[in-house]
Amino acid sequence: MKANLRKPAQFPTVDDLIGNATDFLKSATADLSARPKHSVIAFYTAIELIVKARLMAEHWTLVVSKNAERGQFAKGDFVSVTFDEACARLQNVIGSPLPDNAKAIFNSLRKHRNKMVHFYHEGEADKNALESIALEQLLGWRALVSLIENQWQGIFANMAFDITAIDQDFAEHRLYAKAKFESLAERLAEIADAGGVLVDCHSCTFKAAERREELAAVFSSRCLVCNACRRWMVTPCPSCSVDLTNEGDDGAACKSCDAAFTMEELVEHLNQEIITKDNYFDVMTPANCANCEGYHTVISWDGSYVCLNCIEHSDEIGVCGWCGEGNNGELEASFVYGCSACDGNVKLMNE
Ligand SMILES: [Zn+2]
Ligand SMILES: [Zn+2]
Ligand SMILES: [Zn+2]
Ligand SMILES: [Zn+2]
Repeated sequence: MKANLRKPAQFPTVDDLIGNATDFLKSATADLSARPKHSVIAFYTAIELIVKARLMAEHWTLVVSKNAERGQFAKGDFVSVTFDEACARLQNVIGSPLPDNAKAIFNSLRKHRNKMVHFYHEGEADKNALESIALEQLLGWRALVSLIENQWQGIFANMAFDITAIDQDFAEHRLYAKAKFESLAERLAEIADAGGVLVDCHSCTFKAAERREELAAVFSSRCLVCNACRRWMVTPCPSCSVDLTNEGDDGAACKSCDAAFTMEELVEHLNQEIITKDNYFDVMTPANCANCEGYHTVISWDGSYVCLNCIEHSDEIGVCGWCGEGNNGELEASFVYGCSACDGNVKLMNE
């Protein structure tokens, strides 16, 4: 009998990627001050692995840039997706695009990684450089945790990714955030004295985020310590009338009475477009959102249009030339190319 000496290669799993990401996060946090260059490279590698884990949870071929071949993939012999390709696949294939905040911070971490790889020598970092690396990583980490706990919760719930344990490794990063917060004391006092409203930052937790009211009940803030941006909406809870905060994440739950509301319920409850028998055919909302790919998530609000799924707002919405649905995105050639909710006129497109 001929022995089969070649053991079949173990096919990589999502857990393998997550295990690797955990290792990279551990060394990135441990090496922050001693080897900042290494830390920056390892940190971004971890982010990329988690994004790839999300793609792979859908199908392994999504991790491969092109010409996916099972045997090559198992051996690790393939060209993997770039950050832009991964973002496009999250949006177009999985229908779960990275939120603007996460995309911006991951992209910035990626650019800094590239700069480190090409132009930077270990040992050059001064205190200011270390502070900005620490704050950027802290922001990237919070964005990652938010994705895993919310939008990708269903995928990561049963995976061995210990957020609490990894979070403890960011203690040194938080010291940098604390130092920056203390250095901003005067600036923050000026903002408060001038009538500005400072709120706790959801990312670094310091009361250093200046709140702006963009439309009635629609708020945004940017943190002066860590640059975290946030948008949210506060409206009376339909059950108990206490303030209900919608962070723009597929529905909202009331902290006071525990009632939970789906996106559809929020849309129905808050949409200010009035439907009568005379305007029935001209009704534009709920419209679709090109920013978050939300379906029927954009409502008429305060003379403007707000997506309840991502709290993006716009002055106008249009109608897609192909599917006829309202949409807040670019619609100029929508008769041919469609909108965020439809593929357009496939026949014309192929001509
Ligand atoms: Zn912050
Ligand atoms: Zn309530
Ligand atoms: Zn949206
Ligand atoms: Zn359409």
